[in-house]
Amino acid sequence: MSAYTGTLYIVSAPSGAGKTSLVKALVEALPQIRVSVSHTTRAMRPGEVDGINYHFVEHAEFRERLERHEFLEHAEVFGNLYGTSQLWLEEILAEGCDLILEIDWQGAQQVRRLLPEARSIFILPPTQEALRQRLTNRGQDGDDIIERRMREAVSEMSHYTEYDYLVINDDFAHALEDLKAIFRANRLRQTSQQQRFSGLLKQLLA
Ligand code: 5GP
Repeated sequence: MSAYTGTLYIVSAPSGAGKTSLVKALVEALPQIRVSVSHTTRAMRPGEVDGINYHFVEHAEFRERLERHEFLEHAEVFGNLYGTSQLWLEEILAEGCDLILEIDWQGAQQVRRLLPEARSIFILPPTQEALRQRLTNRGQDGDDIIERRMREAVSEMSHYTEYDYLVINDDFAHALEDLKAIFRANRLRQTSQQQRFSGLLKQLLA
């Protein structure tokens, strides 16, 4: 086990803002970051893999897990249930890894209440038009779903004030640099560095 305890990050964004691609690139760019795989009752989209993108479960199984208090947080989004399992969470943080929860604003509120030390990041699209374009280009949903997702996106975005950091995903590479800056700066905090370099600090002050 590492002497350094990782940080829990909440990352939220309206659907189509590029959150999943940015988080994937971030995990590839920086060491020691894990992403939590949520449980959901939503149907699998083309290209998604069970156990990688989500743990896809039936309503009954979700309810059972809920009753067993397996979820740190859960919420209903677009008529489907989503939840973060808390089984691995503490283990991963104790290993010194930072852990990202890609969850919506409702889940973010629950996590903040339980774990106030969690850092939260909201990713925004550069314009409403860009968001609509990205939702359309995905080609995974019909027009009615896209319009509904646009309305939901505006409602999701209205919660940006509850977050510690805002990242605008206009240029992907720039947004990724912003995310990396947040993680790197957080790792340099005095309390984190004190844990990581306890040996050095003891020696320097001897
Ligand atoms: P999608 O179905 O498009 O992957 O995700 C829809 C929304 O559900 C997104 O805002 C996503 O962040 C959110 N979401 C995904 N997993 C969880 C979770 O475990 N908990 C909560 N509260 N929201 C989640």
